[in-house]
Amino acid sequence: MAGNHTWCFHRSDLSTEEMSLLQDLVSHCWNSYHVAFPQHLRHFTSDYMAIESQDFAKKLMAMYLDSISLNQTIEVNKKTGDLTLNGNLIETDLTIDARGWCDEKISAHRAYQKFVGWEVEFSRDIDSSSVFLMDAKVEQIDGYRFMYTLPYSPKRFLVEDTYYSNDGEINFSAIEERLKKYIGTNYDEDFKILRKEYGSLPLELGEPIPPLANYNSRYIAIGTQAGIAHPTTGYSLPSLLQQLTALGLTEKGFKIDEAAHRNFNHLVVSKNQQSFFRLLNRMLFLASEPEQRVQIMDRFYTLPESLIQNFYRGKLSGLEKFKILALKPPVPLLKAMRCLSERTQLHYG
Ligand SMILES: Cc1cc2nc3c(=O)[nH]c(=O)nc-3n(C[C@H](O)[C@H](O)[C@H](O)COP(=O)(O)OP(=O)(O)OC[C@H]3O[C@@H](n4cnc5c(N)ncnc54)[C@H](O)[C@@H]3O)c2cc1C
Repeated sequence: MAGNHTWCFHRSDLSTEEMSLLQDLVSHCWNSYHVAFPQHLRHFTSDYMAIESQDFAKKLMAMYLDSISLNQTIEVNKKTGDLTLNGNLIETDLTIDARGWCDEKISAHRAYQKFVGWEVEFSRDIDSSSVFLMDAKVEQIDGYRFMYTLPYSPKRFLVEDTYYSNDGEINFSAIEERLKKYIGTNYDEDFKILRKEYGSLPLELGEPIPPLANYNSRYIAIGTQAGIAHPTTGYSLPSLLQQLTALGLTEKGFKIDEAAHRNFNHLVVSKNQQSFFRLLNRMLFLASEPEQRVQIMDRFYTLPESLIQNFYRGKLSGLEKFKILALKPPVPLLKAMRCLSERTQLHYG
């Protein structure tokens, strides 16, 4: 139940209504955080939150024990909404498909945010006052690389080594060696590993796959199964909450017969809104050399805090988009021009 994840988000990613849905599930909340680059360190004073999957599972089981059936593999006919378990058809008014990342829904033209994280317990108390969402002062390897540190308590930390890379392959032995060294150098060498997590999240570069337009069906896809995630971070929690509220799934008078239609409209609008983020991805992954990516991120983090918040929320104004482009990324002009169209088939490097 709930897998082996930590789901994090900025409080500013969510509206008050969206936050009210998650409030009781939050495991940790920090009031400030840092980002560190070779050229500058910046301190933000806004809320950042984490949901630990063990916590999430416990709370869900307590609330919905009677309606949860574990360890079952279901099959879904996406055209009709028919749901089958062990070959037996299950009667449903509406099938909501949340089976996670689905290759057929995301552009084949993609890069990756990949990471390996260790939740560790130190033998002594460590200074736990600083959250680092990005410490990019580390050696740049395999694209843009940064360390991510969330102190849960003076003894318990989550530390992740993250790469914005052209490929999704994770070299576990090399990355874990770097993680061990980073934790030992920056915190303490005396720790034990409580849990490991890893991910390789696709970041779309090209034109998205259109959503399935079968208004009359009893089927809707949500979350990453619907292909919605922030194109530049691969994170899906804020976009899922936006989708649930747009569909009215959280309202008392939810109308099943309107669901597929509303879902289709929501997906079309959100995929269009994301086109600017796919453009930024092409600048980052196609126009720039892997070792230059850190400079692009460094410049981005000099922008106003409200703009950075809107970036993560996935909702930028026209002026904010202009300000990002006006940063003049350190990439060759011709390569940048070639990245403008979503349809242009480009190659790395
Ligand atoms: C390690 C990790 C950390 C992440 N951290 C963040 C984060 O901090 N913030 C953020 O916004 N995003 C994060 N993401 C990205 C994304 O938000 C998560 O992957 C998120 O869990 C996706 O949610 P989902 O509900 O769409 O799919 P999933 O969480 O993948 O859930 C799909 C569920 O469906 C089940 N399933 C699949 N097929 C079947 C079947 N045939 N029958 C029955 N069950 C099935 C799976 O077992 C799984 O339980 C992270 C991803 C990973 C891998």
